[in-house]
Amino acid sequence: MVNQRGQKKQTSSPPALAPEARRRIRAKLLKWYGTEKRAFPWRGEKDPYRIWVSEVMLQQTRTDTAQGRYPAFLSRFPTLAALADAPLEAVLAEWQGLGYYSRARNLHRAARIVAEHHGGKLPRDKKSLRALPGFGPYMAGAVSSIAFGERASAVDGNAVRVLSRLIDLNEPVDSAAGKKIIELEAEALVPPSRPGDFNQALMDLSAGVCLPRAPRCHACPIAKHCAAALRGAAALRPVKTKKKPPREITIFQLWAENGKTVRLVRREENGLFGGMWELPGLMVEGRPEGPDKRSLAALRRSALGAGWKTGEEIARLVRTLTHRKILFVVYRATADNNTKKTPTSEDALWAQDADLVALPISTAQRAVIDAVREEEAEGQGNLF
Ligand code: SF4
Repeated sequence: MVNQRGQKKQTSSPPALAPEARRRIRAKLLKWYGTEKRAFPWRGEKDPYRIWVSEVMLQQTRTDTAQGRYPAFLSRFPTLAALADAPLEAVLAEWQGLGYYSRARNLHRAARIVAEHHGGKLPRDKKSLRALPGFGPYMAGAVSSIAFGERASAVDGNAVRVLSRLIDLNEPVDSAAGKKIIELEAEALVPPSRPGDFNQALMDLSAGVCLPRAPRCHACPIAKHCAAALRGAAALRPVKTKKKPPREITIFQLWAENGKTVRLVRREENGLFGGMWELPGLMVEGRPEGPDKRSLAALRRSALGAGWKTGEEIARLVRTLTHRKILFVVYRATADNNTKKTPTSEDALWAQDADLVALPISTAQRAVIDAVREEEAEGQGNLF
């Protein structure tokens, strides 16, 4: 049977490696890892907390960025107890520039749970780790195998690519059936001894040899066992279902100055940019021509109080995150002469330049603030 992509549909039992092939793959991959593994500050680390931090940083962050930030994070929060004791604000500030701040919030929440309910020690098995915030199947498997030597698979998108090629998987890897096949194969493949090294070897292979577009099969230690490579079909794997375009969101924001300070508000803990500081804003779905006037007035009153007006547009820029394409539109807010007071709240402040450096502010929002500053500088330049 052939599907719409012209691929043969799997009608019999799903592909799987033979036990002997698995044995050889483990041995070859571990040998290769012995000489070819990448040097990272967390490699050889024995402290489960530090291994955990490295894995959290590496999720959706490039390894070179994570490498640069890892030592600073650990010097600020050297132990799980230090992280658990720290205020969330300090953790978010240290996380700046790494993006996906929910990772930092979960790291912090999980550290507090471990400190309170596990005697300050991370649990070792995958199942107990999964109960902690931020521990999905990959994270739990990686920490369990690398930090504790438990036989647990750790399958992220890169490992999926290698595995789908090894078994020449015809099923889309993001379908329920494809995911199940990969999960079962990964569990069977991870060896009882050195499971952490094996999982890291798979990661390194995917990063330097089994590349997404042009796999370097000639340099691959397990090419002889790779069904897709043997069939000359490595670049056609993994099969994926068609991606949805990113969701379009528009955020209308206000730029309000008071002397040399600018008004910032803190977002609610949950959701996009949760807990981060930003210009007061109104988030709407899609690309409306402008903000709803009443909603904008309500925002202005709650963030700035009475006596402020919305003026001209001063900046507009688009930032694309993994699943969202965000258009930021910034308007100048101006105060009439009698405006003296703005509402006081823990979640709003007049920020000086030093605050803009120290507060947790998303990279996207920093780009917005920079765009406004540039616009201001040009405007002032034009005066002279
Ligand atoms: Fe990837 Fe090629 Fe190695 Fe197969 S042989 S695992 S496709 S690099």
